[in-house]
Amino acid sequence: MKHVLRIIIITIAVSAILPVSMAGGEPAPPRRELVSLRHWTAPEHTRIVLDMSSECIYQVSERSGPNRIVIDIPKGRLAAGLRKFKVGDGVIDRVRVNRLSNGAQVVIDLPAKSSYKHFALKPNNIHPRHRIVIDVNRTISVTEKRKKAEKARRVAQSGDYVVIIDPGHGGSKPGASSKYGPSEKYYTLPLSKLIAEEIEKHRGFKAVLTRKGDYDVGLYRRIEIAKQHGGHCFVSVHLNSPNKNNKRKLRGSEVYYLTREATSDKHAASVAEKENMDFGEDVNRKELNGDVEEILYNMLRNNAYNMSSVLASHMALELNRMGSIPFRGIRQGNILVLRGIEMPSVLVEVAYLSSKSDVTQIKKKSVQRKVAKAVACGVVSYLLENPPENMEKRPARMAVHTVSRGETLSGIAQRYSCSIKDIRTLNNIGSKSMIRPGQKLTVYAKTD
Ligand SMILES: [Zn+2]
Repeated sequence: MKHVLRIIIITIAVSAILPVSMAGGEPAPPRRELVSLRHWTAPEHTRIVLDMSSECIYQVSERSGPNRIVIDIPKGRLAAGLRKFKVGDGVIDRVRVNRLSNGAQVVIDLPAKSSYKHFALKPNNIHPRHRIVIDVNRTISVTEKRKKAEKARRVAQSGDYVVIIDPGHGGSKPGASSKYGPSEKYYTLPLSKLIAEEIEKHRGFKAVLTRKGDYDVGLYRRIEIAKQHGGHCFVSVHLNSPNKNNKRKLRGSEVYYLTREATSDKHAASVAEKENMDFGEDVNRKELNGDVEEILYNMLRNNAYNMSSVLASHMALELNRMGSIPFRGIRQGNILVLRGIEMPSVLVEVAYLSSKSDVTQIKKKSVQRKVAKAVACGVVSYLLENPPENMEKRPARMAVHTVSRGETLSGIAQRYSCSIKDIRTLNNIGSKSMIRPGQKLTVYAKTD
């Protein structure tokens, strides 16, 4: 067995000289202390995160008989109470900690030899600790890979409109925090699932999620999922928080689309900076900037760049009508996850986690459903009005009907040759609810 030994020496940055002060006025832990260990199982890898009290030198080596990955932290210490734990997800058996005479050691026991990568992350506004990250890859068989690719191809070739829904953050990346409840990632996934559900209520529409559980998904993987499934548009779902210098009380939802130029909008720039933070680890900025020229060229060629603003305005219209959470407007930002997407794409900041009123609203299932419906209606009405040119088969066409005074559901159903049940399902109208004049209803249009 070849012994692999990699040594990473992290240069001491100015920021590291200052101890990271933690909330609550607790004394800072000693330097080079392994404060905690966390893990997440993703479909293609399992991530172990070592939260450190300061920057440190660490060494990663691979051992066999039994298979394991060993992380040595010279002069490192273990926080009191750190214990071994079982993972048992088929990728990692368990994680152990050892106190050595010259430092600390973490051992990752593997059921079989696996490939892995590791890197270090510095603290930022969201993550207060220095971190050492080990990603152990799941061994995926050729048959399994083929099955996955085949499934994606079937969606791409279904002739349906394919909408990619991208739940922001996940796993070791909680996103924005809130003093009124859980952090961003706990909202983005259920909201995205509801949006997908609402989209699929429309005949001829499919929704694909870039993340289905609480785990990390890198920037390139999100873009790859969108491409593989032949997405016609892309919606990234987030919740906002103001940066520390902003003392204004902000609340409401916002829709962002990509800007090519540096923006003079300071608010948009700070939102983009915050949302891009998660991708620091897997983005070689130079590499992405190299690709970006080509991506922007392709976006211009297929008009996706202009169409993103049209998609944003469709969504804005729906979010504005929704009530519950005020709509703050459409903005342009230099947002990484949108930069790799060659289809019309937007990022929705659903609410402000710093606003008590917004959090009270977004915690309600009924409001989550309303938001999901608004986002879904925005995408659906956009695609119906702007069908992608490369579609071989067109799904059943739909139209938006504005209810006039005196009109009934049965009258509208008759006019469009669809059932009352269809109209109720498409528009989330309960069996006891009435329609009102001026209300906009999505209906199946007559196909003749
Ligand atoms: Zn976010």
